[in-house]
Amino acid sequence: MMQHDNPVWLITGCSTGFGRELARLILARGWRGVVTARDPSTVADIAAGHENQALVLALDVTQRAQIADAVAAAQQRFGRVDVLVNNAGYGYLAAIEEGEEAAVRAMFEANVFGLIDMTKAVLPIMRAQSSGLIVNVSSIGGLTSFAATGYYHGSKYAVEGISESLAIEVKPLGIDVMIVEPGPFRTNWAGPSIKQSATRIDAYAATAGERRKQTEARSGKQAGDPVRAAQAIIDAALSDTPPLRLLLGKAALDLARKKLDMMKNDFDTWESTTLGADFPPGEG
Ligand code: NAP
Repeated sequence: MMQHDNPVWLITGCSTGFGRELARLILARGWRGVVTARDPSTVADIAAGHENQALVLALDVTQRAQIADAVAAAQQRFGRVDVLVNNAGYGYLAAIEEGEEAAVRAMFEANVFGLIDMTKAVLPIMRAQSSGLIVNVSSIGGLTSFAATGYYHGSKYAVEGISESLAIEVKPLGIDVMIVEPGPFRTNWAGPSIKQSATRIDAYAATAGERRKQTEARSGKQAGDPVRAAQAIIDAALSDTPPLRLLLGKAALDLARKKLDMMKNDFDTWESTTLGADFPPGEG
C-alpha cells in the first residue's frame, strides 16, 4: 500500500503525456516526486517552484547504470519510494511479417525490460519499508489485440503477466501492484512517439495498413484526457485496496468486456474438447 502521508512517487517518462500530467498533479498536491525523463530539460518546468519536493533526474529505462543511479539518488534525497510508476513506453506499427527485429527488440527493451529493471531496483527499498505501490502502465492493448500493433501488444501482454505474478509475490510483503490499461488518450503516443516499420507488404494493406492510417488519423482526437487519467491513477493509488487492473476510458471498458465475451464464448463452445484432454477420471 502507498504511504498516504506525503508519499514519494518515482515516475518514468515524464517529458510528455501521462507521466508529465501525473508528475504535475503529484507536485501540486504537495507530495514528493522523482521526476525522470531521458532529457531532464523537458521536465524542468514541472519542477520549477517545487524545488523542495521534486528531484529531477535523467533516466532512460533501457540504461541499467542510469536506473541504479536514479534509484540511489531518490533514496538519498527522500529516504524512501512509496510509488513507482513504470510509465515510459511507446508503440510500434507493423504487421507481424513486416516487423524489423532491431526495432522490435528496442521496443521490448523499453516497454518490458525497462519496467522489469526499474521494478527490481526499487523493490529492495519497498521491502525494507514493508509498503509500496508499483503502477505498471500497460494498455487496453495488454488485454486485446488489433492489426499493426502485434509487437506492442506482445510487450504489454508481457507487462500484464509479469505484473500478475509480481502482485502475488509482493502482496505478503506489504506491496501492491496496479496495472493501468488506458484506451486511446490524447498524448504523443500515436503522434510524435510512434515508430513504424519501413517494410510494407501489400498483402497487409487492408489490415495492418488500414490500422496504421487509422492510428495516425486519430492522433490528437482521442477521447481520453491524460489529465483526468493521471487523476484517476492517483485516486486508485489512494485506495486501501487498489485494483490489480484499472481500465481508463470508455473505449478501454468496452473493448475489455468484448474480450471477456470472446474468451468465454471460445471456452464454452470448446468445453468438452478441453475437458477431453485430461486422463479420464480414475485412469493413470
Ligand atoms: P507519450 O506522450 O509518447 O509519452 C511517453 C513517454 O515515455 C515520454 O516521456 C517518453 O520520453 C518516454 N519514454 C519512451 N522511451 C523511454 C525510455 N527508453 N526511457 C525513458 N523514457 C522513455 O505517450 P503516453 O501515452 O503518455 O505513454 C505513456 C505510457 O502509456 C506508455 O507506456 C504507453 O504505451 C502507454 N499507453 C498510452 C496510451 C495512449 O493512447 N496514449 C494507451 C495505452 C497505453 P521521450 O520524450 O524521451 O521520448
